[in-house]
Amino acid sequence: MNLERYTQAGLVWFQWPLLTALPGLSQRIWTRHGGVSPAPYDSLNLSYTVGDEPARVQKNRALVREAMGLAELISVGQVHGCNTLILTDRQEVLAARDLGGIDILITNLPEVGLLIKQADCQAVVLFDPVQRVIANIHCGWRGNVHNVIGQAVRRLQEAFGSRPEQLYAGISPSLGPCCAEFKNYRQEFPAAFWGYQVRPGYFDLWQISVDQLRAAGLRADQIQVAGLCSRCQGEDFFSYRRDKVTGRNATVVALQA
Ligand SMILES: [Zn+2]
Repeated sequence: MNLERYTQAGLVWFQWPLLTALPGLSQRIWTRHGGVSPAPYDSLNLSYTVGDEPARVQKNRALVREAMGLAELISVGQVHGCNTLILTDRQEVLAARDLGGIDILITNLPEVGLLIKQADCQAVVLFDPVQRVIANIHCGWRGNVHNVIGQAVRRLQEAFGSRPEQLYAGISPSLGPCCAEFKNYRQEFPAAFWGYQVRPGYFDLWQISVDQLRAAGLRADQIQVAGLCSRCQGEDFFSYRRDKVTGRNATVVALQA
C-alpha cells in the first residue's frame, strides 16, 4: 500500500504521497467512515442511486465539501463510457449538477471538487501543475476496455495544451489482482489484456491502467498506484463484489485557490 492515512472528526481518508508533495492540489480518497447513513450504506455513502435516503446523502456530501473547504462539489451520473465534462466557468458549474452519462471530469477552476463515486471501480486522478488543470476519471474494467484514461489525457492536450510528460497521476484503491476475477474474459476483454492475468481468470487492472497512462505519454515516476484492494483489504471501502447492496465512496480532487 502506497498511501498515507488521515483522520479528523470521524472522517477517514487517504492521500497519494506523490501528489501531496505538489503545491496547489487538494486530493482525498474518502473511506466509508464518518458519515450519517445506516447499514448497508454505513456510513459515508455519496450516491443517490443505491437506495439510501437522499437527505443522508446530502449531509454526507456536505461533510466532504466542508472538510475540503470547497466552493462546489461536482458529481455526475457515471455510465462506464468516455464522455467528458469540462468546466471552465462558474455558470457551467451550476448547470453541471444534474448531468449524467459522464465518466471524465475536468476543470481549471479553483475550489471546484471533482468527485468520482466508487465501489470497486478505479478513480484515476490527473494533475497538470504547469497548465493548472485537473481530471478525475471513473474507470471500471469497461473503462479500461474503452481506454477512458487515454481519452482523458487527449482531452487535456486538446483543451488546455497539456503535455503528457508533465502530468501526474494517481490510481485509487479498487478491485485488486487478488479479487479481479473475470470468468468470461474471452468475451469481455480484448486479447491484448489476457497477458495481465496473475493466475487463471484473475487480472491486474491496476497494471492495465498504468500501461494505458504510459501509452498516453506519462512518465513512470509520475504515476502512483494506491495498491489497496477495495474488496478484501479491510473494511474501509464499499465493495460491490463483496456486498452487492452497498454504498459508494469517493475520490475527490480540487485545485486550491
Ligand atoms: Zn482483493
